Amino acid sequence: MGKIVRTLSGDGSVLCSAIDSTDMVRELQRLHNATPVVTAALGRMCTAGAIMGALLKNEGDTLTLRINGGGPCGTLTVVADYRGNVKCCAGNEQANVPLRADGGLDVPACVGTDGYLTVVKDMGLKEPYVGQIPLASGNIAEDITAYYSISEQIPTVCALGIVFNEDASVKAAGGYMLQLVPPVQDSSVKVIEDNLRNMESITGMLEKGLKPEELALNALEGLGAEVLDQWDAVYYCDCSRERTERILISLGREELQKLADEGETTEVCCHFCNKKYEFSTDDICRLLKEQKN
Ligand SMILES: [Zn+2]
Repeated sequence: MGKIVRTLSGDGSVLCSAIDSTDMVRELQRLHNATPVVTAALGRMCTAGAIMGALLKNEGDTLTLRINGGGPCGTLTVVADYRGNVKCCAGNEQANVPLRADGGLDVPACVGTDGYLTVVKDMGLKEPYVGQIPLASGNIAEDITAYYSISEQIPTVCALGIVFNEDASVKAAGGYMLQLVPPVQDSSVKVIEDNLRNMESITGMLEKGLKPEELALNALEGLGAEVLDQWDAVYYCDCSRERTERILISLGREELQKLADEGETTEVCCHFCNKKYEFSTDDICRLLKEQKN
């Protein structure tokens, strides 16, 4: 079970959200059978997406975070709900790139840097909110920091880390995101800059087993911060046979007729959890009848 913890500075001017996303990242690696570098890329996306989703206000709101950097892993997509539960997929989950010179996973080389980071917030309004920026570095944390500062004008610091065991299984995953709440207090900014300078790297802190509340409180040290709220978040796919039928119906009469004429079982696979839904010719004919146009 993942855990999200939020802390607020004593004067209310800085919010820090932190997450232990270890189980989420293990689950995405298992479901997608992803290579370590794609697990790292999707893992960072899910870690950030969960924190970003948790900033949504209402039940039913969703946030989609998408990066298409033109790299071997293709487009990376994460969908989060307002509680920070996430699901994700990549264009090519088996993509691989050479390790960096220091032996680390080269996430930017796998993601690519020639493209965009897009955030879609569906808050039940007529049109969803869409924000987009050109990718800053392809390392994801920097891109999200840039997104908030450019697109939403919220000064933000984002740190995301995935630590692997020697057998490429996930040892720990997590991150934190710090945001200044207007009106910005210069004195708080100074303290935070010092804290960030003195804090260990996110992977170093995860290696040591630091908990999300420790991450969130360390970042706000000296600001009289307290835990605001905390709850569990998981990797969760909400696909169902009914939803899949609606997608098939939306293909239109012609496409459905084609599937019916082929006379074979139609298999639809969910990109987010790899669950397979089978539809017989009879099922397709029934959907054709439900198809109104
Ligand atoms: Zn699914």
